[in-house]
Amino acid sequence: MLAAAEDVEREADRLTELDAAIGDADHGGNMRRGFEAVRTALRTDADGAGPGTPGAVLMLAGRTLVSTVGGASGPLYGTLLRRAGKALGDAETVDVAGLAAALRTGVDAVAQLGGAAVGDKTMLDALIPAVDALPRGFAAATAAAEEGAKATVPLQARKGRASYLGERSIGHQDPGATSSALLVGALARGGGA
Ligand code: ADP
Ligand code: MG
Ligand code: MG
Repeated sequence: MLAAAEDVEREADRLTELDAAIGDADHGGNMRRGFEAVRTALRTDADGAGPGTPGAVLMLAGRTLVSTVGGASGPLYGTLLRRAGKALGDAETVDVAGLAAALRTGVDAVAQLGGAAVGDKTMLDALIPAVDALPRGFAAATAAAEEGAKATVPLQARKGRASYLGERSIGHQDPGATSSALLVGALARGGGA
C-alpha cells in the first residue's frame, strides 16, 4: 500500500492528463487523495492496535478509499481491496496463490459493482489479465496489466464517463486501466519481484 501511494503520488499528473482527454480531469487527484488517506490511516493505526494481518491492511485501505474518493474509482478500488482483504481472512502470512485467489474475488466484485467486462475500456482491462497472470508471478502480472492498459487505446468506452464520448473515446488510454497497471506494479515491488 505504501509503494502504491508513492507511485500514485509520482504519476498523478499523468493520470489526470489521461482523464482530461476522455473524462473530467480528476483521476490523478482522486487517486492521490485516496492513497494519501490510506497512508495516513495505516500510519495512525500502526501507533495503536494496528492492522495485524495482510487482510486487515487491505480492508482498512479499501474502507479509506471508499470514504475519501468521490469519483467512480473510489468505490471500485475500495471494493476490490475490501473484498480481497476479507477473502484473506485473518491469515498471518499470504503466499502468491492465496493472494491471486483473493484478488480474483476482489476483481470479480468490481465487475459486479460496475457492470463492466474486459473490452469496455475500464480498469478491468488491466486488472483481469493481471489476476489471470499472477499465479505465474508478480512480473507476469505487471506485464499483463501494462499490456492490458495499452490495449485500451483503440477501444470505445462502454462504461463510465468516457462512454459519454462515444467514438471520440477511441485513441486514448483509459485512466483507470493506467492506474491499475501502476497498482499492480507497486504490488510486485511490495511482493519482492
Ligand atoms: P470519475 O469518472 O467519476 O471522475 P475517476 O476519474 O477517478 O472517476 O475514474 C475513472 C476511471 O474509473 C475510468 O478510467 C475507468 O477505468 C474506471 N471506471 C469508470 N466506470 C467504471 C465501471 N463501471 N467499471 C469499472 N471501471 C470503471
Ligand atoms: Mg474522472
Ligand atoms: Mg470525477
